[in-house]
Amino acid sequence: MNKSSKAEEALTRIVKIANEALGDTTNEKDYKSMPEEIGCSIKMLPAHLLEKAAETAVKVYPVNRPLIESSREMAAELIADPMKLTLLTTKYWGPSPRKLTVSFMESTPADLRRRIVSHMNAWSKTACISFVETSANGNVRISRGDGGYWSYLGTDILHVPKNNQTMNLQGFTMNTQESEFHRVVRHETGHTLGFPHEHMRLSIINRIDKEKAYEYFERTQGWDQATVDQQVLTPLSEKSIMGTPADQTSIMCYQLPGSITKDGKPIVGGTDINETDYKFAARVYPKPFNGSHAMEYGTEAYQDAWTEEQDVSETEIEESIKSSLIK
Ligand SMILES: [Zn+2]
Repeated sequence: MNKSSKAEEALTRIVKIANEALGDTTNEKDYKSMPEEIGCSIKMLPAHLLEKAAETAVKVYPVNRPLIESSREMAAELIADPMKLTLLTTKYWGPSPRKLTVSFMESTPADLRRRIVSHMNAWSKTACISFVETSANGNVRISRGDGGYWSYLGTDILHVPKNNQTMNLQGFTMNTQESEFHRVVRHETGHTLGFPHEHMRLSIINRIDKEKAYEYFERTQGWDQATVDQQVLTPLSEKSIMGTPADQTSIMCYQLPGSITKDGKPIVGGTDINETDYKFAARVYPKPFNGSHAMEYGTEAYQDAWTEEQDVSETEIEESIKSSLIK
């Protein structure tokens, strides 16, 4: 252990002792401390809504329609199995700027509400979707009760009845470590934006106990073994499901509980929105630029007006700075 982590540990202990001595003044006793083994599961709508939810996704943003016309065989299979249809239908909100409202299911201190919403808005650095708190019933409804970490996917939240949460952040309080706000709140918000899980690299998949994984995903997602193989146990390929080059540090990498790993330790996944995530968010949700022109941050689709070779050199710039001065 190095010096700084020793100091950090000592500080954490002091804060803990101080909090215990002061008693629980935050009135947050009901929330258990976060169990370490929590992973994320994307929440699925009830089976009877799967086809309707796919229609809603297409209504919000027509590009969400899966490309099933190309294969009659595939189309027939999808119609017979709404679960497969729902895995193929994306749930994006589309490229028009949107403000999604956020409310909290339980009474939540103002500073915590602000902190959660600010982490949700980390995505709006490059995306045209932002989140704003409301005291009324929000589009996004957050609970901090039991049930782990999860969110419904993208436009699916529109189908969640108003008295149910669309996102669960079990046990989050102002005492929760800042890094967990980055890792968990931003990840779950990614799901709300319609981003699915990224595949993982082989070395991580090798840590998973297959049988336990089958049982876990059957229970939490209703997936059969073939789907678990395809969605979780197949390592990253050149092109990931998010359409960007495979990136193992994506915030949308699976966050899996210790209960399904061979060593009992959770798979943490990406710990913060990274450059690839930001670029992807900007491509799906481009920010308006100069009114009518949308600039796609960091993508090939955005045409630069000149090449890097044609850039004005630093020397030329310095000369211009000097020569423009009135002597
Ligand atoms: Zn997740």
